[in-house]
Amino acid sequence: MTDYPHLLAPLDLGFTTLKNRVLMGSMHTGLEETRDWNRVAEFYAERARGDVALMVTGGIGPNLEGSVLPGAAMMTTADDVRNHSVVTGRVHEAGGKIAMQILHAGRYAYGPKCVAPSAIKSPISPFAPTELDEAGIEKQIADIVSAAVLAREAGYDGVEIMGSEGYFLNQFIVTHTNKRTDRWGGSYENRMRLPVDVVRRVRAAVGTDFIIIYRLSMIDLVPNGSTFDEVVELAQAVEAAGATIINTGIGWHEARIPTIATSVPRAAFAWVTRKLMGKVSIPVITSNRINTPEVAEDVLATGCADMVSMARPMLADAHFVAKAKAGKSGTIAPCIACNQACLDHTFSGKLTSCLVNPRACHETELVISKAPTPKRVAIVGAGPAGLSTALTCAERGHDVTVFDKASEIGGQLNMAKMVPGKEEFHGFVDWYGRMVAEMGIKVELGRAVSADDLDGYDEVIIATGVTPRDPGIPGQDAPHVVSYVDVLRGKADVGARVAVVGAGGIGFDVSEYLVHQGASPTENLPEWMAEWGVADPAEHRGGLAPEGPRPEAPAREVTLLQRKAEKHGKRLGKTTGWIHRAALNMKNVSFVGGVNYEAVEDGGLRVSFGAARENPTLIEADTIVLCAGQEPERSLADALIARGITPHVIGGADVAAELDAKRAIDQGTRLAATL
Ligand code: NAP
Ligand code: SF4
Repeated sequence: MTDYPHLLAPLDLGFTTLKNRVLMGSMHTGLEETRDWNRVAEFYAERARGDVALMVTGGIGPNLEGSVLPGAAMMTTADDVRNHSVVTGRVHEAGGKIAMQILHAGRYAYGPKCVAPSAIKSPISPFAPTELDEAGIEKQIADIVSAAVLAREAGYDGVEIMGSEGYFLNQFIVTHTNKRTDRWGGSYENRMRLPVDVVRRVRAAVGTDFIIIYRLSMIDLVPNGSTFDEVVELAQAVEAAGATIINTGIGWHEARIPTIATSVPRAAFAWVTRKLMGKVSIPVITSNRINTPEVAEDVLATGCADMVSMARPMLADAHFVAKAKAGKSGTIAPCIACNQACLDHTFSGKLTSCLVNPRACHETELVISKAPTPKRVAIVGAGPAGLSTALTCAERGHDVTVFDKASEIGGQLNMAKMVPGKEEFHGFVDWYGRMVAEMGIKVELGRAVSADDLDGYDEVIIATGVTPRDPGIPGQDAPHVVSYVDVLRGKADVGARVAVVGAGGIGFDVSEYLVHQGASPTENLPEWMAEWGVADPAEHRGGLAPEGPRPEAPAREVTLLQRKAEKHGKRLGKTTGWIHRAALNMKNVSFVGGVNYEAVEDGGLRVSFGAARENPTLIEADTIVLCAGQEPERSLADALIARGITPHVIGGADVAAELDAKRAIDQGTRLAATL
């Protein structure tokens, strides 16, 4: 008897059966663009071996004008068919099924040749699209149909037609982007003609025994988006046109409401999909922030959908489903929804990976094999760098001991988890705890080891992390000046008015911590929806609350300071920086940049501005919190080196500047793979 009867139940599609209810949602990993098809194949095959029922590839362009980027993968030629068949063949050998997503980006295509229903530039693109004429629209349909036919030739089990997230087909549906007056615009019937025609013509071209998933925007989260009646009308028309499954899309890319970030509650939008249940007779998939088998099971058991889509969780752990099936869900590496190594990489033109699992998309290159000679390995530091090294060393057969002077594992992750909106970090630290036990790793906590203690080990790894940087502000020894460490560990009394020194990731985190009171909105869906202004699309077009965001009043008056004159948060994650900025703006945090820290005074912090130190100003504050970055903690490494022992130094102890868990875990895992 399984704990997940709904999740693991097969789904009969008539001409084929899916072995369970998990879809790996489409992710643009950048792998296809490497043109290394063996590597692409191994990425998907690894997930097929992990028992996911059906996978959807990253978006594949049907033509040049519709491709997301110049050079993005397309399905237009016999060569494309040959290349993709390497992937489908490997997935089928592994017992999996895979559908190719056909993504026409419309005005989101990053290039001057982009096309759209109307010539209206998107706020997130520098390129104004060309308005298509009748022949142009016919060409786009023909190209999408042709991509589907070629996908079938390449061995795919189906296609997903991307109709959500504000891409091409979605752009026709809403008046926000479609101002046409011909048969493709105006009435709703006209505006949905394109997606429905596309599905009908794809079905006619591929035959009846081929999966067509239509990804439908169920809540646009943009002005003049669809009403829910329109969503239902489209879903029914898409079913009648021949779709096999309807998948859920949440929010356009230009929406100013977070939809997948870690601060979004788990399964935050499953209620939207549930509204469609019973309105169509084909299976419906729900999506967004579903990251554990428990959440997925609950979503299915409560009738929100017939299937769940999980994308990033399949980066964090390719064997998610297999582990759930084996009753080992506690060992599933959790996706913490940080976006740091996946979407932030995609939007920076880098190959996707995963903070928690650096092997994601590096399956052929970062190979973890049994060590030829088992060794005794000592690791000092039980933060993410030390723990990830320990897990990989143990997997390879080494005898591993981890030491930490703290009384708990997790290092800096234990501070991150205190920040409202970062609750996923609790589960991350807990997972490390379970894995350390599962792998038989010895952990000695409360042990401040010296160089003497490390004699006799074959390998010594120093992962001692960082110490807070001393900004050297005159008067900073005053009692109302505290470190972020004391604040996030709950050891400091913080007053009503606060000046935060340093606007890096931690300055932002500390500010969020200080302006919140009570339970985090991430743990309370109605409160989170009110905070960001999300409404029921059955009541308000696009699901935007007419009164806009309604955040709780800030708990404190916070001023966030930095010396640089640039925009605050510019160096935060590409896909999450705007959310952190918006969240603090909603809590009336003052962003002050270009400052010199002159002195701490009784009433606050005196700053001046610019190289000429002009305009001395007192930032009135009861408490000043120092978040001025980090320095490597290398004293143990230096002591070992002085004795002629060369340890491996990783994580913050190696390079503290802009250290984050992503770099620490990647470095630790890669080192462990070589020992
Ligand atoms: P950080 O990102 O390096 O930021 C340090 C801040 O301190 C900067 O704003 C810097 O700005 C200021 N600073 C540096 N030297 C200073 C000095 N001598 N005196 C006064 N101010 C000084 O470090 P962090 O905030 O400690 O974060 C550590 C790492 O964790 C970063 O990689 C960060 O990205 C990551 N992290 C990320 C997040 C997130 O993405 N949400 C959250 C937490 C941590 P000025 O030089 O302009 O003053
Ligand atoms: Fe999830 Fe973060 Fe990994 Fe992306 S990088 S898959 S968000 S844990």
